[in-house]
Amino acid sequence: MYRVPMYINGEFVESTGNSWFPVFDPSTEDTIAEVPDGNATDVELAVKAARQAFDGGDWPQATAQHRGRLLFKLADYIRQQSAQLSELESRNSGKPITEAEFDVSDTATCFEYYGGMATKVLGHVNPVPDNALSLSLREPVGVTGQIIPWNYPLAMAAWKLAPALAAGCCCVLKPAEQTPLTILELAKSFEEIGFPKGVINIVTGFGETAGAPLVAHPDVDKVAFTGSAAVGKLILRSAAESIKRVTLELGGKSPNIFFADSDFEAAVDGALFGIFINQGEVCSAGSRILVERSIYSKFVEAMAAKAKTIKLGPPLDRETKMGPLVSREQYDRVRSYQEIGKGEAKLVAGGGRFESAAKGFYVEPTIFADVDNRAQIAREEIFGPVAAVIPFDGESEAIRIANDTPYGLAAAVWSRDIFRALRVVKAVRAGVVWVNHMQPTYVEAPWGGYKQSGFGRELGPWGIEEYLETKQVHINLSEQPIGWY
Ligand code: NAP
Ligand code: MG
Repeated sequence: MYRVPMYINGEFVESTGNSWFPVFDPSTEDTIAEVPDGNATDVELAVKAARQAFDGGDWPQATAQHRGRLLFKLADYIRQQSAQLSELESRNSGKPITEAEFDVSDTATCFEYYGGMATKVLGHVNPVPDNALSLSLREPVGVTGQIIPWNYPLAMAAWKLAPALAAGCCCVLKPAEQTPLTILELAKSFEEIGFPKGVINIVTGFGETAGAPLVAHPDVDKVAFTGSAAVGKLILRSAAESIKRVTLELGGKSPNIFFADSDFEAAVDGALFGIFINQGEVCSAGSRILVERSIYSKFVEAMAAKAKTIKLGPPLDRETKMGPLVSREQYDRVRSYQEIGKGEAKLVAGGGRFESAAKGFYVEPTIFADVDNRAQIAREEIFGPVAAVIPFDGESEAIRIANDTPYGLAAAVWSRDIFRALRVVKAVRAGVVWVNHMQPTYVEAPWGGYKQSGFGRELGPWGIEEYLETKQVHINLSEQPIGWY
């Protein structure tokens, strides 16, 4: 067990409160490290450092080319350290090592993408009807507070840090309490790579004691948050006090819709992948599986049979397809929904703890069939490997059920009928819609929700927009007095 300090103003420091909290390996339930229990004073120091780096001009005035190059260097470093970072991510979060490797590679890709984009932020000349030159300049929004969840720790950090840094913003990032280790490991490279002090700060701690003061801090210009809708609401309220810019990436209850004409094998595979990847701890999890009635029974049977073959095991085992859930809290939560489901629908696979593992927060991949869309397991985000399968009759009923949710993060539709697939794409109110696939996510394409899944977009050119202000500049070209008075 070791202590890992946090990173403020270019230094690795403990909390001013001198207290630490444990970080676990969810596959063994052992404490693997301790990190500082950051508090409002620590947040104050981090925001001050970011403010100085921003207002002093170290970062926003550096050339875009320079900022981009540092992001490329960081990406190279991540690729060099891939084995070590992937192992740490897998141990700390419980995700299979093969998925962690994918995430680490994606993290590097994200820094590369925004490294390139730093030099592509363009202004405009506005065609105003006067003897004047009117310009729109793009400027960094300032100091940003960034708060992330535990399901994709390093990738979520990159989705927030990369566009912000490319834009010229300075950052205070609070990782989730459960999974702070990989971003702190990565912070060891920041000075050597050349990021000036204060440009990136990582404050570890709990939501209530470190996250909340960061959101409330008057010197923070923008808050970017990924997590639950409940916390998203708190953040929006708190940010109102100083009119901060806010982007929210919240949860979902995403429909994965299967028409009878879809390729059966591919469809069953896609239904399982949509909900069980990353132990179901995915904001866009295809947790409501809508199946056309004519293939319904066969589909449910095939899903249940295949789900039983999914290999659960230690995250570092390369054969493992599903590891433990991230924490005891999340385990208890998912277990309770397994029990709720038993009272609401028909259990066809899983339904309990994965008892072959002596220790660890393992739950079985669980499938409920004949679920009513009004059931609790169909309405509430479980954030674990629990699927609700719902039959439907025809396209319009599929669309109605798909949209009957307060969320709108993602959806998928499976059909070989291009006309029908595209009608469903248009009718579904969600920020991401896949056709004949579910979950592929690309740095180049926008990510974010409709409805209560939040607002704002990450990734692609949309991602950097959220970290830019627009300044109008009017240059009078006439040398005459205005002549009004
Ligand atoms: P959460 O409570 O929303 O936490 C997300 C982040 O916000 C964490 O860093 C958390 O700190 C912080 N936070 C909590 N309360 C805060 C506050 N009052 N002010 C500022 N920051 C605060 O999510 P969670 O506890 O990780 O998981 C709970 C549920 O959120 C999940 O079951 C799932 O429904 C949803 N979730 C969604 C996503 C997504 O990608 N959309 C990801 C993860 C979770 P702590 O780490 O100390 O809690
Ligand atoms: Mg929490």
